[in-house]
Amino acid sequence: MSTRNQNDRAAWLQGAGAECSTPLQKQGRAWRLILIGAPGVGKGTQAAMLSEHLRACHLSTGDLFRSAMSNNTNQTLAMLAALDFMRRGDLVPDDIAWGMVRERIDCLRCRVGFILDGFPRTLAQADSLKRLMERELLPLDAALNYVVPLEETVARLSGRRVCESCKTVFHLTARPPMHAGMCDHCRSRLCQREDDRPESIAVRLEAYDRSTAPLIQFYENLGALATIDATGSPAEIFSRTMIALQGRRINDESRGTTARIAEATAGS
Ligand code: AMP
Repeated sequence: MSTRNQNDRAAWLQGAGAECSTPLQKQGRAWRLILIGAPGVGKGTQAAMLSEHLRACHLSTGDLFRSAMSNNTNQTLAMLAALDFMRRGDLVPDDIAWGMVRERIDCLRCRVGFILDGFPRTLAQADSLKRLMERELLPLDAALNYVVPLEETVARLSGRRVCESCKTVFHLTARPPMHAGMCDHCRSRLCQREDDRPESIAVRLEAYDRSTAPLIQFYENLGALATIDATGSPAEIFSRTMIALQGRRINDESRGTTARIAEATAGS
């Protein structure tokens, strides 16, 4: 399966009134998912595959910040400070991260649904998002928690290379390009993300343990958590994800049916 996104996500990446020029077409009920897991676990790859399969938008806050970094216009002082946190591998302050998401509330409301990748990353963000989704009557289908051993996470991050133009992701050993240093799709140069360098990787993993790992309990308490073994190929991980999601929707639908039957038979 291709992991290339068919939706240009302009409304998400550019914000401020931009509209997606190639919106996804959706039939049936929308999916609303949150992806959590340590850096390098493969959330971005899974989010792109899920987006293509479920026809829901892939909304990555990391992509948002990278897009702000490469776009030198409209950079406020707060954003410049935020990008410094990002280069070091540390989390951007909550008020800036939440401000960026809240400005894009239409992407959360979008009828095709969403796959949030990299947000929320702290309990404060999770709480703000939960309150917004309740207010907007947007049900959360699942928080998918991807898990791999630490050594594998480090190997995945340090070998990752990204096309500087079309952003396709490669890996020096797991998914090497056909020609070293060159993108298979558009032939542009492959680069290493600044925050994939060893000194930043250590900071990112520490930030994950400190701030993001507590979200696992948060979503467990909400009954939304699905933990996925993220070892193996992207296709294997994707198939585990789909099995977990099918289980959730079947449970939801049977709960809905039970509730409808109970409603219909009440008082009869
Ligand atoms: P990612 O591509 O998801 O690994 O994100 C790259 C970087 O963007 C992170 O290391 C953070 O510096 C920043 N970032 C992305 N999402 C968030 C968030 N929800 N809260 C704070 N910082 C974030």
